Amino acid sequence: MTLLLQLSTDYGQVVHDSFTGYGHYLLTEVLHPHWGNYFYWLVAISLGFWGLELAWPWRRDQGAFRQDFWLDVFYMFFNYFLFSLVVYNALSNVFVQLFKDGLGLVGIHNLVAVEIGNWPLWARLLTLFVVRDFIQWNVHRLLHRVGWLWAFHQVHHSVEEMGFAAHLRYHPVETVVYRFFEYVPLAMIGFGLTDFFLVHLFTLAVGHFNHANLYAPLGPLKYLFNNPQTHLWHHAQELPEARRHGVNFALTLTVWDYLFKTAYVPTEQADLPLGFEGVEHYPATFLAQQVEPFAQLARPSAPALPAALPAVATPPRLPYSPG
Ligand SMILES: [Zn+2]
Ligand SMILES: [Zn+2]
Repeated sequence: MTLLLQLSTDYGQVVHDSFTGYGHYLLTEVLHPHWGNYFYWLVAISLGFWGLELAWPWRRDQGAFRQDFWLDVFYMFFNYFLFSLVVYNALSNVFVQLFKDGLGLVGIHNLVAVEIGNWPLWARLLTLFVVRDFIQWNVHRLLHRVGWLWAFHQVHHSVEEMGFAAHLRYHPVETVVYRFFEYVPLAMIGFGLTDFFLVHLFTLAVGHFNHANLYAPLGPLKYLFNNPQTHLWHHAQELPEARRHGVNFALTLTVWDYLFKTAYVPTEQADLPLGFEGVEHYPATFLAQQVEPFAQLARPSAPALPAALPAVATPPRLPYSPG
């Protein structure tokens, strides 16, 4: 009993420290622009891609403030800041503490299996980037394969008119799912915080680029990097039967899709119908979209995978079984 009480006080302290620590960090970030400031990088990268979209739009008839522009701008700041402030930071710190305590119980006090602190910066960044991108590619495939995960990922696929800001329209549960799968492998390699910051900025920029209303298919580099022409097909409403599990799962590197044969760019079609069957009836506001996946899961019928996908009757395939 005393032990339980002690434990709950410890975790309570972690939650408290996370809230006040993150709240303080957020305020300092907004009030003090500097080169290591994530808030202003997000603003600058976003304005940059918006400017490019306005100057050289791929879909010329798409408005500067396309359908759901402000909704997506709200998502952008919500997912990067408010959600972290309200829940994620505290939750993840508790998870990390639980995880370390759990490891401590079995006598493991240092999870770092590969010591890379003395590697040159470029080698550390490249390793972190490639390892993380491959994990994320697998998690993304899982989001399309497992019914309850798809219910959450559907928020991202509810975009009907594509633009850079759609990048960050996703349900915050996705953040938890991605971090859950990333945590152990990345913690085993001793990356530093600055490494994460730099890789994060790079992937943020490529993510904005993939979703932008720009024509930039990248020539032979398309086999390496994601781009608007490739990613638009990921959002296509209709796919051939053989591709019914989805295509182009790349976040930053397309190389995984080419290696594991999930790449599909039959044409460079700017006006491809996007979303999923019935997307026109999907909730259109932020709050309703937050509730929708839970509402779907609470309904007696199982959450529906995309129309082209058969219901998952067999256990979902695990992420490391490409095909
Ligand atoms: Zn997806
Ligand atoms: Zn997308």
